[in-house]
Amino acid sequence: MPGGVKADVRTYQMYVNGEWVDSKSNKTFPVYDPATEEVIAQVPDANADDVNRAVAAAKAAFEDGPWGSATAQERGRVLFRLSEKIRQNTATLAELESRNTGKPIVEAEFDIADVATCFEYYGGLATKILGFVNPVPDNAVSLTLKEPIGVAGQIIPWNYPLLMAAWKLAPALAAGCTCILKPAEQTPITVLEMANWLADVGLPPGVVNIITGFGETCGAPLVQHPDVNKIAFTGSAAVGKIIVKQAADTVKRVTLELGGKSPNIFFADADFEAAIDGALFGVFINQGEVCSAGSRILVQKPIYKQFVDAMTEKAKKVKLGAPLDRDTKMGPLVSKDQYDRVRSYQEVGKKEAKLAFGGGRAEQFAKGYYVQPTIFYDVTNSARIAREEIFGPVATVIPFEDEKEAVKIANDSPYGLAAAVWTRDIFKAFRAVKAIRAGIVWVNHMQPTYVEAPWGGYKQSGFGRELGPWGIEEYLETKQVYINLNEAPIAWY
Ligand code: ADP
Ligand code: MG
Repeated sequence: MPGGVKADVRTYQMYVNGEWVDSKSNKTFPVYDPATEEVIAQVPDANADDVNRAVAAAKAAFEDGPWGSATAQERGRVLFRLSEKIRQNTATLAELESRNTGKPIVEAEFDIADVATCFEYYGGLATKILGFVNPVPDNAVSLTLKEPIGVAGQIIPWNYPLLMAAWKLAPALAAGCTCILKPAEQTPITVLEMANWLADVGLPPGVVNIITGFGETCGAPLVQHPDVNKIAFTGSAAVGKIIVKQAADTVKRVTLELGGKSPNIFFADADFEAAIDGALFGVFINQGEVCSAGSRILVQKPIYKQFVDAMTEKAKKVKLGAPLDRDTKMGPLVSKDQYDRVRSYQEVGKKEAKLAFGGGRAEQFAKGYYVQPTIFYDVTNSARIAREEIFGPVATVIPFEDEKEAVKIANDSPYGLAAAVWTRDIFKAFRAVKAIRAGIVWVNHMQPTYVEAPWGGYKQSGFGRELGPWGIEEYLETKQVYINLNEAPIAWY
């Protein structure tokens, strides 16, 4: 039984300053299995007092602890060791992730492999943070030094719990920052399990602190804390807007990844079978609980009718089931709240468009937050189901005439996270790539994501980039250093 778990009741503690602690109020809250609706764990209900304790630990670790003087090689080796621990424990972590989120076990295994890869990538990048010599026109050396931003507060969502933690922790640690990470209240377990290894892999106390709590009572005080130098947030646009306002008082650096309403565009010349698979995969993967979900499916008129029919036929074969069943392609939604939200959009859609498939709860399951994969067609882009992020398996199919109209509809959204374009014509594909206002554009695929390539949005999908060298930049400050090489006085008097 790992350090943070009290044997029989599975009550977790949180990880602060290298110790397992309860919340100062001693309150806890329940964590659920969305397939059975049963409580699977209790975790501390942290509030501002606990935030203060964690921030103090992170600040001390940054300013006075050994982490501040650790070399880049040493920081890199810590991340390599953590990556290895995660790889060795993939099966256990994937099972916990699948049980807590409802996502299919096979997808959870991919997620955990990506977690390990992310720590490994940034372990390598730690020693490749480069400065510049600036060519100033004087007898002097001007340098640009890169330095860690300091104490980073990190607030993450519930759809890819450990992976979102890795996207935040790995670049921050590679840069030399210290962290306070708050997982989503629905899914705090896997990151707490990971915390069991942090000391073993060589992280001094206070470098990584994991606090569990709710948005308003635990997230907000972290955002407002004057000793936190940066907030990295992934979550809803509504909360992202609150965070920007709350961070203003202390002029915090903020990066935001806020989801979207991503267009998946199918031209008539696309490979038809690949296109149908791409449309379904793009919007139904992870039960549609994906910030980059291809939830607006734009289809060119000559193939439109055929396309809706083929999508519907294939959607019937998507296997819904228990998350831990290896054949399952779609599990329950993460929570009762999320289930209610998606169900309400299914009803909104029935008034706004035509229903091709699904539209309700998946009634074959006696328990659990299961909804049917749902396809609406003849959707207009002004409909609520085409404008608002649903974050569930609800596809809206929209017809278009030509390239110009496709791009116009694609860009007519407050969001701009991702997009995909399907065509055999490389010229047409690249015209669309350039015209679409989004941070990620895939051609003839949708969703592949690599730690080597940048991730983040345009417009109201947020700002800042995660992953790759872009991800570490967001945890670095730039210092200008000037060294005068003239030995004579400057002759000002
Ligand atoms: P959802 O509504 O899908 O749960 P949220 O954006 O509310 O998405 O949640 C994402 C993360 O933001 C979670 O960790 C949540 O606890 C946190 N959060 C929610 N509200 C706030 C807030 N006012 N300040 C800081 N963090 C918040
Ligand atoms: Mg919320």
